[in-house]
Amino acid sequence: AEVVGGGDKEVVREYFNNSGFQRWKKIYGETDDVNKVQLDIRIGHSKTVENVMKMLTDDGPLDGVTVCDAGCGTGCLSIPLAKQGAIVSASDISAAMVAEAEKQAREELLQGQSNGNAVMPKFEVRDLESLEGKYNTVVCLDVLIHYPQSNADGMIAHLASLAEKRLILSFAPKTFYYNLLKRVGELFPGPSKATRAYLHSEADVERALLKVGWRIRNRGFITTQFYFAKLVEAVPVA
Ligand code: SAM
Repeated sequence: AEVVGGGDKEVVREYFNNSGFQRWKKIYGETDDVNKVQLDIRIGHSKTVENVMKMLTDDGPLDGVTVCDAGCGTGCLSIPLAKQGAIVSASDISAAMVAEAEKQAREELLQGQSNGNAVMPKFEVRDLESLEGKYNTVVCLDVLIHYPQSNADGMIAHLASLAEKRLILSFAPKTFYYNLLKRVGELFPGPSKATRAYLHSEADVERALLKVGWRIRNRGFITTQFYFAKLVEAVPVA
């Protein structure tokens, strides 16, 4: 089922294959050529990744656990997951992002002896609406910002249908709406860049999860000066 209207999705794909790719590759990377705002977002986002890794590993070892990283970007989460022995299926709507993630994974996982139980993630260019299969855990970080709430419900339902045990989502909270639009409008695609960033209320996300039989078991909130993310870990109600 098409969750994001064709137009919007094409704009997002095109952005993350071009200027958005260049911009976010820098933010998610380690080089020094970032400005103050980008550096702050880099720090915020890496805290989100750390939080997710902690949520997952607190629950038990990841060795052999199947994880779907939906909208994997440059692989910031897929790579640490693989290092812990998870069987990762990583996908993104942007071919440029997937190629970069794969390149980084090769660099980090295939060299040295320190990654004894790491398995190369399986990388695929795919929008998350067309993902299929079953995974122990599904994670989708900082992607909901491209979905208006009317489409977010369908996206959340679809991701939940792929997950057996856990679903982890992060999103920009609505409470920071004006601040966020003003500050990071430049980071999002579209003719009117700012309006393309969709913020979500935790209550709306929770309602969407409950509707398909999932409840939130863990919550997190990551914030720096320019980065805000709510993190939720959901599990089946039954
Ligand atoms: N999850 C990664 C992370 O946290 O490092 C990347 C986050 S980045 C802000 C958002 C990513 O979502 C981009 O790589 C973009 O290409 C991807 N994306 C946006 N809409 C998508 C869709 N419908 N299906 C799959 N990926 C999508």
